[in-house]
Amino acid sequence: MDNSVATLSAAINACYIGPEDLLQRSVSVPLTDSRSLYDPDASVFFALRTASGDGHNYIPQLYAAGVRVFVVDESYSGTRYADAAFLVVDDVMAVLRSYACGRRRRFTGQVVGITGSRGKTIVKEMLYAAMAPLANVVRSPRSFNSQTGVPLSAWEITDDTQVAIFEAGISRMGEMQTLADIIQPTVGIFTSLTGEHDDGFASPAGKAREKALLFASCHTVFYNGENRIIEQTLRAMYPDKCLIPAFGNDDMVRKAAAALLGMSETRNIEVPVPVNSRIDIADTDAGASIAFDHFTCDLSGIITGLDTVRRRTVRNRRLVAVLGEPLCNPEEMDAVNARLQHVLQLFGVTRVISENEMSSAVIPSDANVYINVTSKAAGRALYSSLTTRRNVTRLEINLDAVAANFRAYRSLLPKQTRLIGMIKAFGYGCGDIEVGRTLQDIGAAKVAVAVVDEGVALRRAGISIPIMVLDPWCENMRAIFANHLEPTIIDGSEDMLAMLEEYADAEGVSDINVHLKLDTGMHRVGLHEDDIMPFVECLKRHPRIHIASVFSHLATADCLDKDNYTNGQLALFRRMTDSLCNALGHSIPRHILNTAGITRYAKDHIYEFARLGIGLYGILPDPSLRDVTPPLTTVAKLVTRIIAVSEYPAGATVGYGCRGVLTRPSVIATIPVGYADGIDRHLGNGNAHFLVEGTMCPTVGNICMDLCMIDVTDAPLAAVGSEVQIFGPEAPIQRISDVLGTIPYEVIARISPRVQRLYFRE
Ligand SMILES: *Cc1c(COP(=O)(O)O)cnc(C)c1O
Repeated sequence: MDNSVATLSAAINACYIGPEDLLQRSVSVPLTDSRSLYDPDASVFFALRTASGDGHNYIPQLYAAGVRVFVVDESYSGTRYADAAFLVVDDVMAVLRSYACGRRRRFTGQVVGITGSRGKTIVKEMLYAAMAPLANVVRSPRSFNSQTGVPLSAWEITDDTQVAIFEAGISRMGEMQTLADIIQPTVGIFTSLTGEHDDGFASPAGKAREKALLFASCHTVFYNGENRIIEQTLRAMYPDKCLIPAFGNDDMVRKAAAALLGMSETRNIEVPVPVNSRIDIADTDAGASIAFDHFTCDLSGIITGLDTVRRRTVRNRRLVAVLGEPLCNPEEMDAVNARLQHVLQLFGVTRVISENEMSSAVIPSDANVYINVTSKAAGRALYSSLTTRRNVTRLEINLDAVAANFRAYRSLLPKQTRLIGMIKAFGYGCGDIEVGRTLQDIGAAKVAVAVVDEGVALRRAGISIPIMVLDPWCENMRAIFANHLEPTIIDGSEDMLAMLEEYADAEGVSDINVHLKLDTGMHRVGLHEDDIMPFVECLKRHPRIHIASVFSHLATADCLDKDNYTNGQLALFRRMTDSLCNALGHSIPRHILNTAGITRYAKDHIYEFARLGIGLYGILPDPSLRDVTPPLTTVAKLVTRIIAVSEYPAGATVGYGCRGVLTRPSVIATIPVGYADGIDRHLGNGNAHFLVEGTMCPTVGNICMDLCMIDVTDAPLAAVGSEVQIFGPEAPIQRISDVLGTIPYEVIARISPRVQRLYFRE
């Protein structure tokens, strides 16, 4: 495929403005997110306008980084650099799609389209890895399956490609047709159908039909033979196609690969067994980051992996990559290796350690490390040896879910309102630093913590966006200014302002940014209405103190029956902040909405910021808000493993005080998690159930400090080593908080630091 700017420009019908010589440049890397830039010479930037931002704003920054080819729309009014090319079109998103359609249509090989509720990415990676040694195969990077991801995936197709594998994911009705038009698969794969993301769909059958629209152009469709709805849907829609059931991912991949490669036997196909399709991220003892990539080790996998690592690890540290032999068709080996060397250099990798050397190599503990090797078990062992945390009880944090929830709430608010991410209390137990880095990466305006120590930890970890400190009272307030934190002031006294100035002076800080808290009805802290005028007078005597924002907190935003109270708070906030701004003669950014407030009061919102807390973590402030909340993605999963299993007769007792009395012959499993880990003692004696091998198993006896026991008699597959999910995507945290008569906020914030936090991206 010709990747020259001239061809691209003609294909998208653009008006070309730029120097002649750029017309011959080859642009093989499409870019829609400025942060993913790694190869400026080969990149073409598509300036998309989306709900969360306008790509045109990033052009100066990309130009400075060396990008010279931009696709923009007619309303772009920024600088037209003389030595850069501007391809001007009506609608950038539309040309991104139409160009992808054109690229697909010129391709005459086999195209696989994969869809389903779950397992798309895993099946795509498995199929790719099974076929790559035998043919020239390309696939969508990572989980590029969306309305933007699919068009970008089309760029992977080159002249040598024999098979292209695409993943298509949708979240509501009507989206699949656009993806199907681009992909035009010849072979389809339907992996599974679950109840997730149901809100955009009328019924499971409706959802199956919508997904199956992908297969209109296929001659053959492989599908999950265990699912009746999938089977019935395909039979009804496509009676003339060759429909082949498969049982399990391995069978699916073997059958599809054999068909694609024209083989009659599936035996000779080697199918890898991936555990996950994600990247695990953790800290090393020396405070650097280490990332372990479960995705296939090949050029495109390494590029997307390094992009993830670079976007979230501690800057200014060396980057070491531990890499296996990149998977590719043997004929391509030299070209792939040459390109890989170039890519590693572009990403600033200072040292490469090969898979053969990795067991003996000494890895500097202060370097960031990226691991993507062929033997995932060996890679995992290296990763575990370098991380600080090894406890089997762990809270797994899906950072992509944090980003998805951020966007879900963002979409409820008007464009000009920006979000402040609440990461107090160790990021609601989920990890302030990693969640903070994620928020910084996806464009949060600020983050907020409760106490100074939390703010200092974030600065040390390299978080550079503004950090609000809600309760800044501490032993040594100089730390606030030494770390450029922004304190909240809750009283407007002369003493308070003078004290802040004194501490700022001691640190040589001249601009003092503070946030002013108003009490509009929570009756906890903040200025009251009649404090405003005296405060303004006082502030005039302290011109160096700058009110970066004024805010208040809602007491009843999640109470459906207390709208009157909330509306009263909103009105009072309006009145108080109006008089403050009038008296000061300038406007001040304002915010009052928390998660429940964003959910219920975003419609008429006019302020500059809103504060997103619990929703970021995929948890509803109150179950009654389910119907008015966009679909959230679960962020945290608390898991452990069974360390012992024993059988006891009826009448035997379990645990301290012999409180667990067995009423039948029972199989009892012990798990290494107790009240010191944050498992409340009230969850013992059958009050809570944890998920083991697909069965919810009750606790037995009292919860101990470090251990507890569960009855796994009804979970025949339970054995030493089985995973136990205490809460997570399949075992909602609300069940635990309901048992305790509390709210999920408390359950998650109380998971103790002893529990390992394991972060991953999908
Ligand atoms: C914790 C907190 C929030 C976030 O509340 P959620 O209900 O978790 O969204 C917002 N504002 C203030 C002042 C808070 O203390």
